[in-house]
Amino acid sequence: MKIYNSATRQREEFVPNNPDIVKMYTCGPTVYHFAHIGNLRSYIMEDILEKYLRFAGYNVKRVMNITDVGHLTSDADEGEDKMLKGAKRENKTVMDIAKFYTDAFFSDCEKLNIKRPDVVEPATACIDEYIKIIEKLMNTGYAYFAGGNVYFDTSKMEKYYIFNDFNAEDLAEGVREGVEADSNKRNKNDFVLWFTKSKFEDQALKWDSPWGVGYPGWHIECSGISMKHLGEDLDIHCGGIDNAFPHHTNEIAQSEAYLGHKWCNYWMHVLHLNTNSGKMSKSSGEFLTVSLLEEKGYDPLAYRLFCLQSHYRKSLVFSWENLDNAVVTYNKLIGKIAALKNEGEMEEAAFAALREKFSAALDNDLNTSLAVTAIYDVLKAKTTDATKLAALAEFDKVLGLDLIEKAAAKREADAKAKAAAANVAFAVISEDGEEDKAVEEMILARRDAKKAKNFAEADRIRDELKAMGIELTDIPNGAKWKRV
Ligand code: AMP
Ligand code: ZN
Repeated sequence: MKIYNSATRQREEFVPNNPDIVKMYTCGPTVYHFAHIGNLRSYIMEDILEKYLRFAGYNVKRVMNITDVGHLTSDADEGEDKMLKGAKRENKTVMDIAKFYTDAFFSDCEKLNIKRPDVVEPATACIDEYIKIIEKLMNTGYAYFAGGNVYFDTSKMEKYYIFNDFNAEDLAEGVREGVEADSNKRNKNDFVLWFTKSKFEDQALKWDSPWGVGYPGWHIECSGISMKHLGEDLDIHCGGIDNAFPHHTNEIAQSEAYLGHKWCNYWMHVLHLNTNSGKMSKSSGEFLTVSLLEEKGYDPLAYRLFCLQSHYRKSLVFSWENLDNAVVTYNKLIGKIAALKNEGEMEEAAFAALREKFSAALDNDLNTSLAVTAIYDVLKAKTTDATKLAALAEFDKVLGLDLIEKAAAKREADAKAKAAAANVAFAVISEDGEEDKAVEEMILARRDAKKAKNFAEADRIRDELKAMGIELTDIPNGAKWKRV
């Protein structure tokens, strides 16, 4: 598999340190508000990466943090703590806010078929890890104490900037409107490892430390959590492109200064979802969430398809019209799949060739739009419907579009609508489109037995169907069946 590595600015063959297990880390949400669908674009693409690695035969251990402390409104450690801001906005405690928005985040993920990482760790649960790292950085001269806070000294790094070729002056941002520069910093890009004196005396969560009672900076969280669960080396680290600087740059600086060796081999960054008026954010413009999509009648999986139709390294423009187009595509696809009948022999060679084409697309730096095109190749292929359905179920392990389930639901809805239109008093519905007159007659005979209160006969017929491998489910004014 080839993947574009932001750290080397090249497409590289993906080779994990240990062939038995891929260690993957994803920056998680700051849980002070709902995730917007831009954030979720990043999580969808990371989900595809994880699932594809598994599909390609790797074992994966994936870890994600939940930022519930220390992330200030400016990524350069200035401004107000985002969690505190959320708590004030809603008149709740920081912990209440964290719990509420963590649950909301995973509920959105579930709707988008984003798998929960193997380890999900809140930042507040790993304070000892951060203290251990910061102590060593202090002892080795990579960190300094100033004005009550502990800072990482970026000038000590031989190579601090990893992800871009900009000069230091261009990158020395951090001073944004309404945000005062921190005069304790020796170098503009130095960052806080531990706060004891922030400008916000009402900081809710504090812990004891060798430098006084305080709380960790945002960047140290990801290094600490990653090392706690994945050890001293990491195969692949992901996040949205805005995380590259300063967050990931700082993660690398402190981790490698602490470890004394290279930390992570591959960096994957997802480009932003934008609106016509610019980057999507929580503070400006319409706040687009999964719930809002649902309120407007959209299936969240249509948004997933919308994301998959373009490459993760291109920014993507969201508009309702673009989403509508994805809905049309999705419905057409499901309609075509619903028309397949689970019939014919499974043709292994044809299945392997289809799977190969799908893998080739994703091996090519996760080309999800070509992977979606591979669905059409299946539909057009000269093979049995059974083979096509097997291939689609296989692809969907990665794509996560519920292709088979949605097609079954559509078939059922169509059959019910047809029965209703024909005014049939009792509908016999085949769940996967199979036609079998004998089965249908047995189901009708069972209905007649029940009507005549001959329950022994009705049960006997059900048992006979079961012995034939038919699963029967009673529904209002009918029954549906499928071969299991
Ligand atoms: P946050 O909750 O703000 O820490 O962000 C969560 C994730 O979403 C991070 O990986 C960000 O890089 C990513 N992200 C933020 N804005 C966008 C956007 N407009 N499009 C795609 N990803 C984003
Ligand atoms: Zn992070």
